[in-house]
Amino acid sequence: MDISENVRVTNQLRDFAMKDPLTDIYNRRAAITMVDQYLSCSGDYCFMILDIDNFKNYNDLYGHPQGDVCLRRIAAILKRVFDDYEGDVIRYGGEEFIAVVFSLDRKIVKGLGEEICRKVVEEGIPNGRNSIVTVSVGICYVETTLNIPLSECINIADNALYQAKDSGKNTSVLITGS
Ligand code: GH3
Ligand code: MG
Ligand code: MG
Repeated sequence: MDISENVRVTNQLRDFAMKDPLTDIYNRRAAITMVDQYLSCSGDYCFMILDIDNFKNYNDLYGHPQGDVCLRRIAAILKRVFDDYEGDVIRYGGEEFIAVVFSLDRKIVKGLGEEICRKVVEEGIPNGRNSIVTVSVGICYVETTLNIPLSECINIADNALYQAKDSGKNTSVLITGS
């Protein structure tokens, strides 16, 4: 095997380990490494949890294989959005994604959450007769001066996501860590 072949195989093995085969974005294993790296850097950052709304309904209506297609489309939208920012999105499991974004002020982060909801709506994937696929976003915003452990960030983002679901879904809620 020459060097370029060696590099190709090494990259392929890394992708097998770190990427989710369905959506081709990073998986939970990659998340642990990436989030650790992020949290050890300095600067404001935000931690997001994104969850597709009423996805059980989607599977029930259109079947699991079509549900997989929908998941891929949503993942592609998220990847495009986060590629424009200094951050990464990961398929955490099922129809849930997490993302970490750096160096954005609070207002921009709030706007980013809204942009994600809007982009998914624009995709216009039907979910039943009078409804389309949407996502809800929970955001934990962390200021540099605070030293909040990851487990606490997850709790805060989870709480924000719960509030987004509770207020009717297809929305983004930001809570500032304290
Ligand atoms: P909510 O709006 O509150 O988030 O409700 P929901 O229906 O999205 O949430 P629930 O947790 O009840 O259902 C999630 C569904 O996601 C159920 C499960 O079958 C589906 N799901 C999880 N992983 C996959 C997958 O890889 N492919 C497909 N097609 N469906 C999946
Ligand atoms: Mg859901
Ligand atoms: Mg869920």
